[in-house]
Amino acid sequence: MDKNVRICIVGGGPAGLSAGMYLEKKGYENYTILERLDRVGGKCWSPTYNGRRYEMGAIMGVPSYYAVHDVEEFCGITHDGPKLNRNYKNKDGKVIEPFEPKKNILKIPRLLKMKKQVKKLGELLETKYKGYDVNGHRGVAEGRYDGYSQANAKRERIKGENPNLKDLCLPFNQFCKLNGVELTQDIWVGPYTSFGYGYFDEIPAAYVLKYLDFQTTMNFVKVNLWTWKNGSQYIWEQLNDHLKHPARLNSKIEKVERKDGKVYVTVNGKVEEFDKIIVTAPLFIPNKRADGQVGMVDYFDARQDEKELFSKIDYERYDVLAVETKPEDHPEISYYVFENMTKERLGHLMVYYRRWKDTKDQVITTYALRKHKDTAEIPYEDCKKTVLEDLKTMKNPASNVINEWSVYYFPHVFSKDYADGWYDKVEAMQGQYDTYYAGEVMSFGDMDETAEYSRELVERFF
Ligand SMILES: Cc1cc2nc3c(=O)[nH]c(=O)nc-3n(C[C@H](O)[C@H](O)[C@H](O)COP(=O)(O)OP(=O)(O)OC[C@H]3O[C@@H](n4cnc5c(N)ncnc54)[C@H](O)[C@@H]3O)c2cc1C
Repeated sequence: MDKNVRICIVGGGPAGLSAGMYLEKKGYENYTILERLDRVGGKCWSPTYNGRRYEMGAIMGVPSYYAVHDVEEFCGITHDGPKLNRNYKNKDGKVIEPFEPKKNILKIPRLLKMKKQVKKLGELLETKYKGYDVNGHRGVAEGRYDGYSQANAKRERIKGENPNLKDLCLPFNQFCKLNGVELTQDIWVGPYTSFGYGYFDEIPAAYVLKYLDFQTTMNFVKVNLWTWKNGSQYIWEQLNDHLKHPARLNSKIEKVERKDGKVYVTVNGKVEEFDKIIVTAPLFIPNKRADGQVGMVDYFDARQDEKELFSKIDYERYDVLAVETKPEDHPEISYYVFENMTKERLGHLMVYYRRWKDTKDQVITTYALRKHKDTAEIPYEDCKKTVLEDLKTMKNPASNVINEWSVYYFPHVFSKDYADGWYDKVEAMQGQYDTYYAGEVMSFGDMDETAEYSRELVERFF
């Protein structure tokens, strides 16, 4: 492609900013990033409280975050944040140690079986499911893989046929049953459901395993995690500062028209002309949201195929509260509440997070899901009330809520559409209408998968 091509990038989150970085690295400098908010970072949002930054969005990474590492290198920064640790409570607020055999004598046979199954899953992923860890979902529903392996820092390009990959279309609980590794869900659920990515009976295994590939899961188990002193947003603020063309904030895109090989974007009342457009903002939002966010189909001259395919996208209703506590009520560490990570306990507190262990004058953040595919959405205020009650049960009551966010989270499709080849249909549309689709739904809702997808998109098409 002509290096002077004029590229519009919609969204200044990890996907959009890293698309800018990878374009620039490849010699494309004629890009413009449009961000609707007055800040960059998207779901990496790290406000300040008492002089320190806390996390309303992304919290952590792992050593296999290779694309995030590219960004760190580009900017000369590193993961210099507080070391994370956690304990566990049951739903009644009692501290438990679910994985410690000595504390769970009756559960020893189950724990031993679980350990064996974790090993077995690790082996199956390497062999039977070779290619599972490639970023993005191209070919999975047809039993193919093609892309960059995330197995090590070399991120080698791999390509091949593997009919077993079709199993990844199944909901994760069925995938585990099929392979006789049901108990691995006890481990995977921690960094999955409590991080807002839905429940194992509704989410295709492909999402679960591409994010929680074996080595990433083991990093979570061993608490081998990265954080950033100035918050995850700092990574993207730094990237924005280092780009030749930082994102244009407060850009309200009113209309996008694609005709005669050009893309006309009406932004803040003015029409601007581009040759190509990369959309990293939501493609489809099925309901009216209080924050006014809409999907691209609402402001683009969306074609029938775009409308039809994108209308299959759903997302998680994931709520975050930042609360103050009295010093005597401050938790000594972050807590996971496994019993609340089931759909029967929808709307309850699943994890609460203490970021700074050297002080009690910082906030605690809480996380809850309030929708399952088969249930009605729990109203936001009801869920908030439940979470605040749960904090009392945990004996860490909040004295004040200082920030709250009900975020458009983890857009995805369900098993039927996944198996029907949703991803291959969308991938086949890449570049058609001079439009490219990136961001969370094309890979997975975490910083690294989205940035990595942007890398490959640039590699493939520019
Ligand atoms: C509570 C929470 C915890 C998380 N924890 C982690 C974690 O620990 N580790 C991790 O890796 N990830 C985590 N994530 C997920 C991670 O933050 C996201 O997956 C990542 O930010 C996605 O990047 P993105 O650029 O695709 O989308 P986003 O971050 O959502 O960015 C999209 C951008 O597009 C902008 N936009 C939207 N519509 C328009 C429009 N019409 N015009 C212009 N701009 C528009 C938005 O304002 C936003 O800035 C977490 C997220 C949340 C909310």
